[in-house]
Amino acid sequence: MSVAFEHFSDVKIIECDDFLSILPSFVPTGNILLVTSKGFTKRGLVAQVVDKCTASRVYVFDDVTPNPEKSHLQTHIAQFTHNNIDHVIALGGGSVIDAAKIFCALLSHPDTSLDDLLLVDEVVNKVNLIAIPTTSGTGAEVTPFATVWQSDMAKKYSLYGIQSNVAILDPSLTLSLPVDETLYSALDALSHALESLWNKNKTKESEVFAKQAISCICHSLQQVLAEPKDLVARSELQRAATLAGMAISITRTAIAHALSYPLTAGFAVPHGLACSFTLSAIIDVIGYETLELPEALAGQVTALLAQLDFGVELQKYVAWSEIQRLSNVPMDASRAGNFIAPIDNHLIHEILLTSQRLIKQTSLL
Ligand SMILES: [Zn+2]
Repeated sequence: MSVAFEHFSDVKIIECDDFLSILPSFVPTGNILLVTSKGFTKRGLVAQVVDKCTASRVYVFDDVTPNPEKSHLQTHIAQFTHNNIDHVIALGGGSVIDAAKIFCALLSHPDTSLDDLLLVDEVVNKVNLIAIPTTSGTGAEVTPFATVWQSDMAKKYSLYGIQSNVAILDPSLTLSLPVDETLYSALDALSHALESLWNKNKTKESEVFAKQAISCICHSLQQVLAEPKDLVARSELQRAATLAGMAISITRTAIAHALSYPLTAGFAVPHGLACSFTLSAIIDVIGYETLELPEALAGQVTALLAQLDFGVELQKYVAWSEIQRLSNVPMDASRAGNFIAPIDNHLIHEILLTSQRLIKQTSLL
């Protein structure tokens, strides 16, 4: 089972080992806004991008923080709206790519506020967007949606319609990622793949993408964690994240993501951890056969999840008593409604109790 991997929707996907050598061909002329985070400026990568893109004027915004704030992005776009930006380059993880998509939307519709754009069914992009992911997780390099947050209200918002024109996958960019972030981002990708299988919107195409992603994650994640410099394994993990992103572009996510948002908004639980600690319990509660995976692959998924110590990771951010309260919190209907089974408080309560039981079985707690 394999899939064509050069295009998805209107996104051209390129796998390479030196993104700097090919980047200038995608921005031959015109003005560039490079969106990134401060770490890449400090490591000198931003200067290298500016040096390479000699035919263009490059403006830099490197103030993207994890879980980007709606008001922060709305405020900062003002400094670039009169620079005739033709291309936006997103160099970073999911938060950077999401911020870049928001900037594309605001640059394409300079007279519309972000609040109003978030209400539009499908925002039209008029700017060339090149996504260069530096984590293997969100799949934001291919998805048509972006997430922004309003942390004082513990709320998240989704913008729909902005998709990259080009996604450049260079696994060497993931080498600087700490081990815990490597794990969390891979778990996010695994959650995307599983959630697209437990999904009312699944198609033959999304199923193929998801199964390929799961297979790649089971094959490469433990190797990347054991040998972080293994570029072949990192490349496979990066491909898995993009494939899982292709799957949720078709289906969107479901119950595990719906359960994650209050934990990220209220307790800053990293997204990949928040959307994956329930996966074993969901498999347990609704049965692994609902995934319709080959038995060997289903066994690999279960074994992979059982090896991970979610209890120790979760307790850094939130107590179980708070997690159990999720069964009384209204779920994000746009995600929860995609799940293959009807969702009620009883099901959520059962999933959370089972999560706690399974995690205590494997945890040192
Ligand atoms: Zn996710």
